[in-house]
Order: sequence, then structure tokens, then C-alpha cells
Amino acid sequence: MTHWFFSPHADDAALSCGGQIATRTRAGESCVIVTGMAGDPPPDLTVTPFIEELWERWQIGRGKAVTQARRAEDEQAAATLGATILFLDYPDAVYRSYYPDAQAIFGAPAFPDMIALFNALTNDLSNERKLPIRASDTVHLPLGIGGHVDHLIMGSLGAALKRLKSVVYYEDYPYSRDRTHDQFDTRAALQRPSAANSNSAPPRQYGSRR
Ligand SMILES: [Zn+2]
Repeated sequence: MTHWFFSPHADDAALSCGGQIATRTRAGESCVIVTGMAGDPPPDLTVTPFIEELWERWQIGRGKAVTQARRAEDEQAAATLGATILFLDYPDAVYRSYYPDAQAIFGAPAFPDMIALFNALTNDLSNERKLPIRASDTVHLPLGIGGHVDHLIMGSLGAALKRLKSVVYYEDYPYSRDRTHDQFDTRAALQRPSAANSNSAPPRQYGSRR
């Protein structure tokens, strides 16, 4: 029986479930971290002032160097925790044109974006070569506390995992420092109108990497 920890970004599973993962792997259980939005920025990325500000704050380079460094950190964290790690190559919301600022990233997911990503991720979930999840395995998903669009989209995958015996949700750290599950209404966050939904950018289609 394997525990699959779905992590929107390179740090979410380690920060939110690190203790649990380490405890399980030390007891001989198998844990896999799947970091979903770990892809490089698209080649046609427009570097907005918001992206510049983030790169400046993170101090790990620019463009692909940032995503490479984050994947390397995530690999290191997984090795420390005794877990296997898999990366999916969807870009972080920061690099998807629907979300030009922090307010949009913590608003509701833009519909075309949500649909494109949900479809791509559910395709991955049904692709046994990519994600060999058995019916007896447990999948851990983020609750979406904090309302980051990537956490909300990944958290909504529970609907596509009904064949599994066990799907559980974890509180997203550090957001859960300020708000517990009881104080955060994920459903309302998904439906909140946001500037992102009035953005007329066409949906980006994500192919499934095999
Ligand atoms: Zn995150």
C-alpha cells in the first residue's frame, strides 16, 4: 500500500505533511510525493512586474533556473523524508497568464484554466504508467486552505479518485497557521468571482507527458 502525497508546488507536501511522511517511511511504508505545478515557465512567458518581484524575493535566479532550483530542493526534501518524488510539468499559477498578481493567485481559479488543468491531471491519474496508483492506495490532497488557486485545483481532484478506497486531505502549511480547516470554506473560495475570470486569455491546452 502506497501513500501518494499530491503537492501543488515544490515544498507543499514537505511543509504540510513532512512529519507524517517521515514517520510512515521509517515504519517501512511507501510514500510518493507528486509535485504537480513543477514545470518550467512557458517559453513565451511575459515577465510581469509581479514575476520580477517574486524572483527578486526568492533569490534563486530567473526563468528556468528558478524552477530547476525548486525541483532540486524538493528532491532533497523527499530524500530526507525517505519518499520517492515525481514531478508533473504544469507551470505554477505565477507563470499562467490568468493570474497577474497575488490577489488573482488567491482569488478563484479562472474557469478555462481550472478546466484545462483538472482535465490534464485527471488524465494523468488514469494513466497507470505515469501514476501507478492502485485502488488500495491512499491519496493525500491539499484542502486548499489559504485559497491559492493551484491548491484549490489540486484539491478538487478528489472527485476524480472515487475508485480509491481512501482519499484524505491535509491542511496546507503555512496557510493553516492562520486559518484552520473549520475557518476556511474551500467551496466558497472556488466560486468566488475574481478578476481572473474576466480575463479573456484563451485556455492553454496541456498535453499529457508519457
Ligand atoms: Zn503551494
